[in-house]
Amino acid sequence: MIRKFISRVLGRNRAGKHGQPAVIGVAQHGLQRDDISRGCQRTIETLQENGYQAYIVGGAVRDLLAGLTPKDFDVATNATPEQVRHCFRRSRIIGRRFQIVHVNIGAETIEVTTFRGHHGEQGGNKAQTDEQGRVLRDNVFGSQAEDAARRDFTVNALYYDPTSETIVDYHHGVADLRQKTLRMIGDPKTRYREDPVRMLRAVRLAAKLSLSIDPEARRPIREMGSLIENVPPSRLFDEMLKLLTSGHAVRCVTQLREEGLHHGLLPLLDVILDQALGERFVMLALETTDRRVREGRPISPGFLFATLLWHEVLAKWEPLKASGEPAIPSLFQAMDEVLDVQAEKLAITRRIAGDIKDIWALQPRFEQRSGKRPYGVLQQPRFKAGYDFLLLRVESGEIEREVGEWWTDFLHASDEARAAMLLPQAPGALKKRRRRRRPTADAGQNSSLPE
Ligand code: ATP
Ligand code: MG
Repeated sequence: MIRKFISRVLGRNRAGKHGQPAVIGVAQHGLQRDDISRGCQRTIETLQENGYQAYIVGGAVRDLLAGLTPKDFDVATNATPEQVRHCFRRSRIIGRRFQIVHVNIGAETIEVTTFRGHHGEQGGNKAQTDEQGRVLRDNVFGSQAEDAARRDFTVNALYYDPTSETIVDYHHGVADLRQKTLRMIGDPKTRYREDPVRMLRAVRLAAKLSLSIDPEARRPIREMGSLIENVPPSRLFDEMLKLLTSGHAVRCVTQLREEGLHHGLLPLLDVILDQALGERFVMLALETTDRRVREGRPISPGFLFATLLWHEVLAKWEPLKASGEPAIPSLFQAMDEVLDVQAEKLAITRRIAGDIKDIWALQPRFEQRSGKRPYGVLQQPRFKAGYDFLLLRVESGEIEREVGEWWTDFLHASDEARAAMLLPQAPGALKKRRRRRRPTADAGQNSSLPE
């Protein structure tokens, strides 16, 4: 208790005593040099041969220590982007807010970042912020200690040097990881204000690494959650996509709800999770996604967002149908309304929005099981995704099990068996279809589904 108090007074979180990092040897950390990709090793060796410092940093060190396979390896160095570029023939500087260098070694691309400086009162260099305190620009080079201090969590501020096989640890990240704690570097409230996305990162990283969020970092989330509304939609979309495709989406979404982050902030989770049927459907979809990610199978963002938003579409579509509007045009109207609302918060890319619409637009077509129509549905380029979506609707109890079974049988049946499966045409169906053709074609222009 007293030790904890003293360490807090000494600013244990912000930097080690006198800013001196712990240097942890291989005997204690146990990382193997060969866990690092060849390209990354080469990049670091080359920078060091040229007289610069170079380390693997961030998520890769953290994941290796936690026994997970890193998604990618990022390198941090004291060389400027120009200096890095001069060390590698196959490299280029990528613009954006802060310049980084992409180094190509074989088929690998290694991201090399120059140590970033520290803003704020202590740094002297005040960062540009919006009126809520969100940092808009932070593009100053700095020392390794400053670079460590501007990272979000202690477990993300570890620097591994494969040459000496040591980990440089300014914020007790190795110990926190061992104790399964996700601890913010610095004052959590300030850090959330600087960048509200850190609240979502806290939830995602805790779920991914089975860490518990340190109470000091957890407590402010509930009251500060609304700050996420100021985050640019494209950034929010990227972060949501990361969260939902992390392989731990169920855990992440459950935790988002516990932290009160699903209300207001994410319209797509707002309504759905509060309806029994919607929740069942979304959770089933997320379970399927998690399973696929863990099996290393590809997942489609379009499919994922189509599932998350489906019950909002239903909520708009059903009253339209009940008021006598024709089914298909009113479905397209509901789809557009739902996607428009999302666009304000989450910048769903045009291509993904196209995929989402294709999947939704196929759903009523699964109801048609007579004549030539089922054959047409099979030919649709997005049939498989639409069919998987149909099965989720069945599984969640939204529609009759029999419809899903019919399509599964039809998909696998021989030509003769298919013909025998077709349901009889309803009397007058032809007439009805003719009457409805014009609005269907009009509505179809909004979708990327080929007619
Ligand atoms: P993963 O790659 O598994 O999604 P990550 O922690 O590597 O997780 P990245 O977005 O790749 O996440 O970021 C790399 C590193 O950059 C982080 O480990 C962290 O040190 C730093 N970082 C990323 N986002 C932030 C942020 N919003 N605030 C402060 N530091 C950040
Ligand atoms: Mg990463």
